[in-house]
Amino acid sequence: KSKDPEQREFHQAVEEVMASVQPVLERNPEYRQQAVLARVTEPERVIMFRVPWMDDDGQVHVNRGFRVEMNSAIGPYKGGLRFHPSVNIGIIKFLAFEQVFKNSLTTLAMGGGKGGSDFNPKGKSDAEVMRFCQAFMAELFRHIGPNTDIPAGDIGVGAREIGFLFGMYKKLRNEFTGVLTGKSLNWGGSLIRPEATGYGTVYFAAEMLATRGETLEGKTCLVSGSGNVAQFLTEKVLDLGGKVLTLSDSSGYIYDEEGIDREKLAFVQHLKNIRRGRIGEYAETYRNAVYTPLDPLLDHNPLWNHTADCAFPCATQNEINEVDGKNLVNNGVQLISEGANMPSVPAAADLFVEHRLLYAPGKAANAGGVAVSGLEMAQNSMRLSWPRGEVDDRLKQIMHSIHKTCVDAGESYGVQGNYVAGANIAGFVKVVNAMLDQGLV
Ligand code: NDP
Repeated sequence: KSKDPEQREFHQAVEEVMASVQPVLERNPEYRQQAVLARVTEPERVIMFRVPWMDDDGQVHVNRGFRVEMNSAIGPYKGGLRFHPSVNIGIIKFLAFEQVFKNSLTTLAMGGGKGGSDFNPKGKSDAEVMRFCQAFMAELFRHIGPNTDIPAGDIGVGAREIGFLFGMYKKLRNEFTGVLTGKSLNWGGSLIRPEATGYGTVYFAAEMLATRGETLEGKTCLVSGSGNVAQFLTEKVLDLGGKVLTLSDSSGYIYDEEGIDREKLAFVQHLKNIRRGRIGEYAETYRNAVYTPLDPLLDHNPLWNHTADCAFPCATQNEINEVDGKNLVNNGVQLISEGANMPSVPAAADLFVEHRLLYAPGKAANAGGVAVSGLEMAQNSMRLSWPRGEVDDRLKQIMHSIHKTCVDAGESYGVQGNYVAGANIAGFVKVVNAMLDQGLV
């Protein structure tokens, strides 16, 4: 029975986990008796607040801010902030719920949370973004702390926003601590944190391919998005000898048959991070590439309807619908590694599992980002900075370990090769056991 039926994305995320953990509940009657399902799906705390800010013309705007502190059984709340006009409580709760199990898989001591606002940073000046971030932190600061809740970036929240948020937190608290991750390098950030989600998603893909004696060398790849995750994912695919054919944003996508090489990737990084332009400009610069604007009347996304070996969705939730799922399967894609959170609708995810594709859900494949955030917290606590190679090696090791954990959990519950079930079971068991150890709190 649902208390909040309008929270669609939250229900979708919960239903997926609940379907996977049925065998766990059957094997452990204590879980039912202790109502672990009811406890794990109810956030420990939901904070919702007004964010008033002034634009460059002196006009006042009001946005809504959120922080969902979902679960602190295995560590302080940890998870990103999303600034996007689509943000609502259901989306933040879905992201916080996923984050609990993802963080559990990383092997680090982090609970789960998520936050954000329906503020749209697109088209805003730096000064407007700064004023918004300061207004947002003017409320959030009283709820977070380096041992309580440590936010980070997500869609619409990158290095610029983390800087403004951190500055305001420091001013209000008068203390310099690792309260946010994704900080810039010269004031507490970690090497490899910007790269970590994209790199980790590719490391996970490489682990899955290795189970079939294969590598990414020579593989063609479809990538969606062109933000933080998509950019560094493309870089790592190139490092491992693969070829990226597509990138997108919310206006459309580009297809480059010759592949997006390092020079073209540098163009995209400048376009998206510095000029904050649209991906369509890629096809104006590289004339062999084809730009297809988004057609809202189409029942599928043509980006997913090209022949390729691998697919890496790195934009947003539910971006692969059932038709897209069928197209990917029919076009012979053999691997899907999710850089985004919950990018495949349940019917598409079921199809990938049914066809025994190498299919990694976001909570396993994209956990490298939060894992390196955990490493950033460790470095901040020690007042140390580890070299790039050391953080990258730790990231690789963590992705290897998450892969093994998923495989082992799948095997012990009779769902071999099913990474969705493996990730859900392993993440769930660790968290609920910690909750039971700590009693009814
Ligand atoms: P960015 O804001 O850097 O980039 C997001 C990209 O996705 C942009 O190209 C954006 O296009 C596109 N996009 C966003 N929303 C939509 C939409 N509704 N429809 C179509 N395209 C959209 O975010 P990130 O790269 O950080 O995040 C991408 C995904 O990865 C998200 O699902 C996020 O939750 C997930 N993730 C991110 C982590 C991180 O470390 N950053 C960690 C783990 C997961 P446009 O510019 O037009 O908006």
